Amino acid sequence: MLEIITTSILLTWICFMVFLERKYPYKKGVKFFREGFWLDFVWYTLIQSYFLKILIFDYIIAPSEVALGVDESGYLSHWPIWALVLFFLITHDFYIYWFHRLQHTSKFFWRTHEAHHSVKDVDWLAGSRSHVGEIIINQTIEFAPIFFLLDVKTAAIVVPIKALIDAMWGMYIHSNIDVKSGRLQYFFNGPEMHQWHHADHGVVFYRNYATKFAFFDWIFGTGFNPDLKPLRWGLPYKYPKDWFAQHIFSVKRFDVDKVENHPVLKPYFDLRPNFIAWFSRRFLKKE
Ligand SMILES: [Zn+2]
Ligand SMILES: [Zn+2]
Repeated sequence: MLEIITTSILLTWICFMVFLERKYPYKKGVKFFREGFWLDFVWYTLIQSYFLKILIFDYIIAPSEVALGVDESGYLSHWPIWALVLFFLITHDFYIYWFHRLQHTSKFFWRTHEAHHSVKDVDWLAGSRSHVGEIIINQTIEFAPIFFLLDVKTAAIVVPIKALIDAMWGMYIHSNIDVKSGRLQYFFNGPEMHQWHHADHGVVFYRNYATKFAFFDWIFGTGFNPDLKPLRWGLPYKYPKDWFAQHIFSVKRFDVDKVENHPVLKPYFDLRPNFIAWFSRRFLKKE
């Protein structure tokens, strides 16, 4: 039942975000089916998240709970649900702030984060583009304490609520909506600061790490929110467009142009664009 409610809220939220993006765009001219839409929707949102959910919950958190002999009654189970959700939201966001900062300062961890920065048209879906390693680390650290500190029944309520808030807030901060939240931006993070975080400008590479609570950036001296908009988004170097290629590239650098145009691999990389071109010729009328 809770899942039906959270899914309905999420779908409504997506429609709301898309509507506001069309009506009040932060960056003009971004199409709904922008470059990388299918990669983010099919590979990152549907396929990757499906498999990683099983891996993280069933093969990492559950066995660790058993191995560590965690008390099943739950240390914090007596807290009201709203307090638990708030507690896990703030503590996890504090962790995310520092881990995200490490990803930008460490060459090793940057390899797990550059995929997220490769989107050139940042919109409601763009936040889903996250390297497998980044998701495994962050979601294990996010959800393990919920299972460790709560009994099964309470965790079954807190996890979907927390996951829903994550998804909604993640879509909001990446959305291409021209939000002007004024002083609220010192507290609640939104597209004003996160669009800048994704900008391809040297000045912001070490700025705006917070995801939900902007005050972490203001407290730790990394906040950046000028009355201007970026000129470019994405990475300052050539980056592969395919999910597999992106993950291989994070481990071993290669010449992206050479690989994408290799006679053996080109038919694979061209598969989807060719199919879409064929589909539109065959079934969609030209205006
Ligand atoms: Zn980042
Ligand atoms: Zn982002």
